Amino acid sequence: MRFYSTNSPTNTVSAEEALFHSLPADKGLYMPTPLPKPGSAFFESIAGQSLADIGFVISKVFFGDEISENDLYEINQRAFPFDTPVVKLSDELGVLELFHGPSLAFKDVGARYMAAMMSHFSKHQDKEVHILVATSGDTGGAVAMGFHNVPGVRVSILYPSGRVSDLQEKQLTTLGGNVQAFEVDGLFDDCQAIVKQAFLDKELNNQLALSSANSINIFRLIPQGFYYVRAYGQVRDAGKPVVFSTPSGNFGNLSAGVLVQQMGLPVHHFVASTNLNQVVPSYIKTGVYSPMASVPTISNAMDVGAPSNFVRLSHLFDDQHESFRNNISGYYFDDEQTRQGMKRLYEQYDYVACPHTAIGIMGLQQYKQETDQSFVGVALATAHPAKFKPLVEEVIGKPVDVPERLAVMADKHKQSIQIGKEYESFREALLQTV
Ligand SMILES: *Cc1c(COP(=O)(O)O)cnc(C)c1O
Repeated sequence: MRFYSTNSPTNTVSAEEALFHSLPADKGLYMPTPLPKPGSAFFESIAGQSLADIGFVISKVFFGDEISENDLYEINQRAFPFDTPVVKLSDELGVLELFHGPSLAFKDVGARYMAAMMSHFSKHQDKEVHILVATSGDTGGAVAMGFHNVPGVRVSILYPSGRVSDLQEKQLTTLGGNVQAFEVDGLFDDCQAIVKQAFLDKELNNQLALSSANSINIFRLIPQGFYYVRAYGQVRDAGKPVVFSTPSGNFGNLSAGVLVQQMGLPVHHFVASTNLNQVVPSYIKTGVYSPMASVPTISNAMDVGAPSNFVRLSHLFDDQHESFRNNISGYYFDDEQTRQGMKRLYEQYDYVACPHTAIGIMGLQQYKQETDQSFVGVALATAHPAKFKPLVEEVIGKPVDVPERLAVMADKHKQSIQIGKEYESFREALLQTV
């Protein structure tokens, strides 16, 4: 499998190169080429299998020529010791729960696959790999846990001070060992800007073998396609067209869905559901893409004003607004609508959803209203409601159960390095830790 940069499609690199150097020098993003198209019969045949088994079969299609079958089997077994079940709320509405991994958010899937791949390739490298990652909430926890104690890897996480939930913060700041948290006096976009600049800093890159685990890394994206296949397998018996709604911020999750659709998974349509950071729903409506500064909301893991994966989505549709719009509908919701949606879900279906998940379900419901078609809608549940406990309890008026693996975090002691939002502030602090 080769990977090309969205800025220069003729310049391709190996899987290992794309894995360790997430960002091509021309500042594009890597995409697989040629995209394997095993056909819909292939997806029908594997859809009933477990996430790890689906991961193994699709990984062979991608990497069978450079990684042995045994290693690919182990990588997938190690990455996915949990399932991604579809919970049926009604005959035409399912919730794809992606929060049964260690950090209770869907980002476990991408982070753990990537960690397993890096561990595989780092066996023959001599320098310690230094992962830099900016998080708007859940990436950090998933990456921290995915890479914690992985030999030959060190992790630095940047997060916006005061803009992640207490438990999210605990997941980033309490592991210790090879995981270090930088608390940035700024917004997520500032964190992301610092990380981007670090990768372009030649001197720093000579000193450290920097690598990224953000959703810009194509190895985060590929495994996220596996659970769309798994979900398709769980709902296709209904014999109806399948529509997925993806609560989106940086749009990695939705890009992964479109990627497997273009590989042949029979997805009828996608819904891009966002909070007030609605640049993509606006683009779908108007054809004009105008990124903006991010707006803080209660669904904070989606507070992204300039989604980095937009360029990937555009590429998948050959930069045609028309094809984009024919495949994806976009809806957005403000905080008040999100609260009402969470409340309605609880009252109507007895289902407790985190704010992101509620937005996904509302997007699907709105699409249904507008199209009046018969289909099975599957909304991606991107995080466990306990990660947003105070908000969820306030909205539904009931205590939320906290899974054991999250509860143990609450008593641990936070350790972070506080820095300003300027690149220099980070650079200095980082160099003091190595
Ligand atoms: C990261 C995240 C999102 C957004 O996913 P993208 O791939 O960035 O679009 C949505 N919900 C939750 C809970 C998240 O952590």
